[in-house]
Amino acid sequence: MNQEYRVLLYYKYVVIENPEEFAKEHLQVCNDFGLKGRIIIASEGINGTVSGTIEQTDAYMKYMEEHPLFAGTIFKIDEASGHAFKKMRVRFRPELVTLRLEDDVNPNVLTGKHLKPKEFFEEMQKEDTVVIDARNDYEYDLGHFRGAVRPDILNFRDLPDWIRENKQAFEGKKILTYCTGGIRCEKFSGWLLQEGYEDVSQLEGGIVTYGKDPEVQGDLWDGQLYVFDERISVPVNRKENVIVGKDYFTGEPCERYVNCANPACNKKIICSEENEHKHLRSCSHECRVHPRNRYIAEHGLTEDEVKERLTAIEKDLTI
Ligand SMILES: [Zn+2]
Repeated sequence: MNQEYRVLLYYKYVVIENPEEFAKEHLQVCNDFGLKGRIIIASEGINGTVSGTIEQTDAYMKYMEEHPLFAGTIFKIDEASGHAFKKMRVRFRPELVTLRLEDDVNPNVLTGKHLKPKEFFEEMQKEDTVVIDARNDYEYDLGHFRGAVRPDILNFRDLPDWIRENKQAFEGKKILTYCTGGIRCEKFSGWLLQEGYEDVSQLEGGIVTYGKDPEVQGDLWDGQLYVFDERISVPVNRKENVIVGKDYFTGEPCERYVNCANPACNKKIICSEENEHKHLRSCSHECRVHPRNRYIAEHGLTEDEVKERLTAIEKDLTI
């Protein structure tokens, strides 16, 4: 693989005055460096993932290190064969990660104990410990720490309610949380402390850092890591390879994500290429016959051809 590009993942909780104005300026900065990616700016800080050549990403990291607000920002660096994004976007948002807490948490004031990969590896194997995946269900379904709790949520903002509804699973336990790069846990672990849980720790640098750690090498991680760029997934465990993803239609081991072809649904489904075609890349009959089905449009299927596939699916169901 030609590895002349890099993908950077980073965040920093720091007060940014006039964040809307700052977002516009920062977009100009990123464009000048030739970067592509997605950055969120809020009054509470910055959260970004960008791609570029080694020279471009080096220049950006140097710029950030010299910036009075962002000195000390930790960049997680992946090598890549090209850009991981099509465009450069810098957007203002009210929050870096959407939790919409009634009592917002400032991670610089209140957050769980930070564990290095080796410490996390050791802690998660202890008996009185419960490991909570602080990501969404579709991220968990592609890969997760062995034995981690899977919150049944589609959006991060639903996590606090889900914890309250299932509190009997966590009371009196040591809680470990983890997420992709660490940013969601900074807030979520702080919220858990605020909620009254006493022993709360988080994986420092997230799964990305854990996979690169020379000692643990991603040990006890099963499956792939879902990432929010064109790569969709990246490997974590360098010691063994266990597939946990399951084909939505057949339940067979699979690690390939597609979006439901019904634009009104857009659900992420894991499926093989074969099943994608067979099921018109749709999660349900309703989505298959949706008038704006993107699969049908992309493949220029005639009404008869669609009918033929629907009949084939029905036949399968009655066997
Ligand atoms: Zn659907």
